[in-house]
Amino acid sequence: MKNGKVFIIGVGPGDYKLITLKALQCIENADVVVYDRLVGEKILSFAKRNAELINVGKKPDFHAVPQEGINEILVKKAKEGKNVARVKGGDPFVFGRGGEEAQYLWHHQIEFEIVPGVTSAVSVPAYAGIPVTHRDFCSSLHIITGHESPEKEESRIDYKALAMLSGTLVFLMGIKNIQEICKNLIQYGKDPKTPVAVVENGTTHRQRTVTGTLLDIHKAVLEEGIHSPAVTVIGPVVSLREKLQWFLKGKLSGKKVIVTRSREQASKLVEKIEAFGGEAIEFPTIRIEKIEDFTQLDRAMKGIRDYGWIVFTSVNGVKAFFERMQEIRADIRNLYGTKIAVVGEATESELNRYGLLADLVPQKFTTESLLSEMIHRVKPDEKVLLARADIATEDLSRGLKEAGVLVEDLTVYRTLMEDGRKQKIMDMLERNQIDFITFTSSSTVKNFVSLIGEDGVKKIKSAKAVCIGPVTSKTARELGIRGVEEAEIHTIGSVVQKLLDLV
Ligand code: SAH
Repeated sequence: MKNGKVFIIGVGPGDYKLITLKALQCIENADVVVYDRLVGEKILSFAKRNAELINVGKKPDFHAVPQEGINEILVKKAKEGKNVARVKGGDPFVFGRGGEEAQYLWHHQIEFEIVPGVTSAVSVPAYAGIPVTHRDFCSSLHIITGHESPEKEESRIDYKALAMLSGTLVFLMGIKNIQEICKNLIQYGKDPKTPVAVVENGTTHRQRTVTGTLLDIHKAVLEEGIHSPAVTVIGPVVSLREKLQWFLKGKLSGKKVIVTRSREQASKLVEKIEAFGGEAIEFPTIRIEKIEDFTQLDRAMKGIRDYGWIVFTSVNGVKAFFERMQEIRADIRNLYGTKIAVVGEATESELNRYGLLADLVPQKFTTESLLSEMIHRVKPDEKVLLARADIATEDLSRGLKEAGVLVEDLTVYRTLMEDGRKQKIMDMLERNQIDFITFTSSSTVKNFVSLIGEDGVKKIKSAKAVCIGPVTSKTARELGIRGVEEAEIHTIGSVVQKLLDLV
């Protein structure tokens, strides 16, 4: 069997968007992902569904796998013919032991590639508004490990040499020894008034920065309870932060927002929340799946000319419908003469992707509005096909039938419950760490409630439930959710606007 290849990858300091395209591709293609402590969940979600994920940073008993163990895992998996992504925080060659792992692989004749990443040494100060070099302030940059065991009699760090440098000093892993580091630098002659910044959890929503001087920074670190991971920056460039700090300034900064949409649909909402500086916590309560039995749908598609109208009440409905048409090689021209109604803007733009325009989009993007406008538009001899989810409410079909319209109600996709992150979300709700929960359909509310249970609902204290429209709000209230707020119009943009109005 041919050996697999190992990719030693850096994925940046925390903000997952700082991953490189190359790193992303390697993770997407990997059979095995071997990752460290500082690698976030989001990065791991890029791996294939069936990829093997091995955490070597922290095991359940809180011990990291020793370096030799990691080396062996890499070689073993590659010898099984698997492609391995060895994923590290920051850059693999900046205090990341990437060099040691590459040497081991070379020794065992395993092919490897190095994928550099954005190192925390530079990016974390940048997110705190500190450029590590600036022509007016310094002409060099030095990255130093501050991790030394306090028992060591003699330091491997040459403080004498460092104290003489006028360049910026960046210490990684040094938070525990900060007082010692500063004391040594002063002792060897560095100006005690040299500005210092310590940045904890840089590039994430938990980023915190404290500033001071060599003389007093340790007090601020202690007072604020700054812990690892943190980067210490020493030098006059630190003073630039006063004007250049930019991160966490958005209107939703510091706010945690749960997004309950399915993974496939969440991205637009997540992006908008993040653009305003908020933290979007994805809790996809539903997963979209194909229906199991296509008999009825295929029959309807073949005889599509018998229908005067097709009604789509969701983006997924449109997607599922046209995907199936393609699968059974039904020509889109068969729809000639059949009118199409959609519930709202998003569903309409999905339809547009197939080169079709909607004949009816209700004034208000709600089921009631769609129903009343349909009743006016549908002619007595026109049959209506409803293409919808297995769990959609019956309101539309009932209302049309009551108005004497001939309706065929067809399930075109299924929604399944997804409970992967339940415990984590429950804990956050209980600790009152969530500011908003967004609901973009009745089904997301129902699934959310059945996942967290009635007890879970009671745990929602200050978090506001922001719903996309009246039907969704009604469901939320009926299911005992408090603090319900409603978007003005039935769109994702309007949900985000509501969040902004509420902060
Ligand atoms: N290879 C990594 C560094 C690994 S050493 C890189 O290039 O960034 C681990 C140290 O990196 C931590 O102790 C801390 O000093 C720093 N670090 C990593 N991520 C950080 C973050 N998000 N915020 C602050 N410091 C971070």
